Amino acid sequence: MKILVINSGSSSIKFQLLEMADESVLASGLVERIGETEGLIKCTMRPGRKDELVVKNATVVADHKSGMRMVVDLLSDARQGVISNSGDIDAIGHRVVHGGEDFHKPTVITGDVLAAIERNIPLAPLHNPANLDGIRVAQELFAGVPQVAIFDTAFHQTIPPHAYLYAIPYALYEQQRVRRYGFHGTSHKFVASECARLMGKPLEELNMISIHLGNGCSMTAIQNGQSIDTTLGLTPLEGLVMGTRSGDIDPAIHAFLVRNCSMDIEGIDAMLNKDSGLKGLCGMNDMRDIHEAIAKGNKLAKLALDVQTYRNKKYVGAYMAVLGRVDAIIFTAGIGENDEIVREMTLRGLESFGVVMDPAANNQRVKAPTLLSKAESRVQIWGIPTNEELAIAREAKAVLNS
Ligand code: ADP
Repeated sequence: MKILVINSGSSSIKFQLLEMADESVLASGLVERIGETEGLIKCTMRPGRKDELVVKNATVVADHKSGMRMVVDLLSDARQGVISNSGDIDAIGHRVVHGGEDFHKPTVITGDVLAAIERNIPLAPLHNPANLDGIRVAQELFAGVPQVAIFDTAFHQTIPPHAYLYAIPYALYEQQRVRRYGFHGTSHKFVASECARLMGKPLEELNMISIHLGNGCSMTAIQNGQSIDTTLGLTPLEGLVMGTRSGDIDPAIHAFLVRNCSMDIEGIDAMLNKDSGLKGLCGMNDMRDIHEAIAKGNKLAKLALDVQTYRNKKYVGAYMAVLGRVDAIIFTAGIGENDEIVREMTLRGLESFGVVMDPAANNQRVKAPTLLSKAESRVQIWGIPTNEELAIAREAKAVLNS
């Protein structure tokens, strides 16, 4: 069974083609700068193998449809392609950012499903229209191939009302569905499942805190395998300190900025999403640059690291209280997998809560699932690489087989 995973953004399409028999990647790549004067297509066939082939192609990509058509042409190229034609693909898994309250699990795409994704556009005005573009183009180019939507929000639909409601007038929830939804659900679910497998216990019996630290960051409290709270909210801005996003702030800062700094709501929204977080504090949003700057004595870079890891620790504490018993803490994504300093600072001082890191195990980049805690640690600490494409492909396969 070959599954094509598509993550369609406003000006880009990321894709990966997987052979599900052995979960190997046949091809992966992305189309960038769709609609601009010069687009870019990068595609790696048979990644990691001896005959790996990297194709880079700068050309005008007018729209998503022509971008997707170029991808199909590359994948089915007679000389170097990995399929003979689009009919070789058995299913397509689409990443969809916001399923609102309509979707609790991956869903085969029908007309009603498209309408529901469209209904949720106000909740994700940038992402859902781009995701819909990708679905519509794929439906056209792969007529008859089953298509499945995998929602970033779905895993978090088990969060109970006391954790998803904001303490603002209830009518805003009833009329506008203003509430916490959470994101990165596919990643949190994937690493939690992997962790359960490695611990040799059913996911349904485990309580975990999963910490996804990439450009976007979020933490999830998982009870008996289900998400019961998460740090991202109505939008992917709340919670942890991210690359360019603020995470939690006093909501009254908005009014302060309007009254005192001549800012309007669009400007504030852009600042909190694009110019805040690590970048806002020290001008850099890549953790590698921040460590380099700290080594050279940059005080603001050190402060940014301190602010981020302090916030991480605060939420670990909160979720330990929420869960009562924690079996595992999981680090994943770019920073979570690669940055032993952030991991150490996040959990430093939690020994009395049964969280005891093994400095030798922690002192490495995590390329495969790795236990990072000492044997005596009541809570196991794991570094587990996330793989959202594989997770999406597995979910799509499971839906189609059910
Ligand atoms: P995204 O949220 O875009 O998927 P990733 O999960 O790829 O992001 O994470 C990107 C971040 O991971 C980068 O901004 C960088 O800070 C961090 N990162 C990647 N490699 C390393 C590394 N070796 N050491 C520290 N941080 C790293």
